[in-house]
Amino acid sequence: MQHYTGYKVGVLALQGAVSEHIEQLQSLGVEAIVVKKVADLAMLDGLILPGGESTTIGKLMYEYGFIEAIKQFAKQGKAIFATCAGMILLAKEIVGEENIYLSLMDIAVQRNAFGRQVDSFQSDINVQGLQGTFPAIFIRAPYVHSILSKKVAVLAEVDNHPVLVKQEKLLACSFHPELSQDNRIMQLFLAMVAGD
Ligand code: GLN
Repeated sequence: MQHYTGYKVGVLALQGAVSEHIEQLQSLGVEAIVVKKVADLAMLDGLILPGGESTTIGKLMYEYGFIEAIKQFAKQGKAIFATCAGMILLAKEIVGEENIYLSLMDIAVQRNAFGRQVDSFQSDINVQGLQGTFPAIFIRAPYVHSILSKKVAVLAEVDNHPVLVKQEKLLACSFHPELSQDNRIMQLFLAMVAGD
């Protein structure tokens, strides 16, 4: 397994599943930073937007100035990995809603797309570039409703709906890879951080 010692990756820590990301990053040799203020972004090679409640995280991002700061971060060509609620924050469109947050990725997302009553489930999904299946954990998850440009590549789907997508230095997934023992999706992101 490749190790990514020497890289600094931050996890936006306004609300949501932060500590599991930190632990998975550390297990791969990365220096993991808990990001609470805009100034923390300057030292990072990559950033993770965790799952949680997108409306809560989004509101706090506006409040603390993270919307503009993360747009700038992306403009500098730095890698961003958005999981679950993070995918909603990264999208250009949210189906049925006026709210938009970072508007960086050319996707329209559907929130709570697997039904509100389906709180969580695990699905062994095929991921482009990985051998065998990945045990993906979905928690009131969104999916990609539609792809808005040819820059977006679909790396995995559930029931014909994209659940893992990539656009240049942006990676977004509907599920919670940090909750699986399997860290191969995190490795896909770290390869993007390292420019492999
Ligand atoms: N349902 C949440 C939302 O719409 C996302 C859930 C999650 O991140 N696990 O923001």
